[in-house]
Amino acid sequence: MQVRVLGCSGGIGAGLLTTAFLVDDDVLIDAGTGVGDLTYEDMKGIRHVFVTHSHLDHVASIPLLVDSLFDELTEPLVVHAQRVTIDALRRHIFNWEIWPDFTCLPDAERPVLRFEPIEAGEVCRIGARTFEAIEVAHTVPAVGYLCSNGASAFCFSGDTTTNDTLWPALNRAEHLDLLIVEVGFPDRQAELAHLSRHYSPQSLAADLNKLDRRPRIAVTHIKPGDEDRIMDELAAALPGYDIHRLQGDDAFTL
Ligand SMILES: [Zn+2]
Ligand SMILES: [Zn+2]
Repeated sequence: MQVRVLGCSGGIGAGLLTTAFLVDDDVLIDAGTGVGDLTYEDMKGIRHVFVTHSHLDHVASIPLLVDSLFDELTEPLVVHAQRVTIDALRRHIFNWEIWPDFTCLPDAERPVLRFEPIEAGEVCRIGARTFEAIEVAHTVPAVGYLCSNGASAFCFSGDTTTNDTLWPALNRAEHLDLLIVEVGFPDRQAELAHLSRHYSPQSLAADLNKLDRRPRIAVTHIKPGDEDRIMDELAAALPGYDIHRLQGDDAFTL
C-alpha cells in the first residue's frame, strides 16, 4: 500500500497545500487543495474519495475534480462520508449555486458523482484494502480513517481535539504502522486550539498516553508559520517518540 501526501498544511501559501492523501492510485482521503498538484493522468485514476469532515480545506477540490474528469468518468466518482457530511456537501456546494449537482449529471441514471454514506465504526472494503471510519472530536461531525491491507495499516486522524474514541479504536486495530495526526496550533494558542477543536502539542502528548502502541507518527495540518515551534514543542513533550513533520512530497510504503 502506497500513501502519497498531496497536501498537509493548515493553510495555503507558496508550497503549502491543504489536506489530501492518495492511497495507491485510486483512493483519496480528503480532497483539499493538494489534489490540484496531480497530473490529469493521475486524476483519471481516482475512483474513491473518503472525506473526514465538511470543512473547506478538506473538500475544496471535490467539485473541481469531478468537473475536470467529467468527460472521462464512465463510472461515478464515489465520495464516502458520514450522512451529515454528505448533507452539508449537497446543501452548500452541489446546490446549483456554488456548483452543479453532479449526482444527476449528465443524467440521473448515469451520474459522474455518487455519495456513499459511511458512519463511525463502519468499514468499507475497496480491493484488498479496508477503510474504517473512526469518530473524532471537531467543531463539525468528523471521522478519521484506519486504512489496512491486512498486513499493515495507517491511520489519518482528520481534524480533532482531545477525544476518547480514536485511541481505543487504534488499540483494537490489528496493525498500526503509521499514525498521521493533526496538530493545528502551538501551545501558546492552546485555548484557540481547544475552541477550534484541534490539537496543540500538549493535548496531543496527553492523548498519546491512551495509545498502547508506538507507531511512527507524522504531524499534519500545522498552521503556516508555526511549523518549527510546534515540532520543537512536540519533541519536548514526547521524548522517545518517532515524530516527523509531514511534508507535501512525502510518500510511504506500507
Ligand atoms: Zn476542520
Ligand atoms: Zn482542516
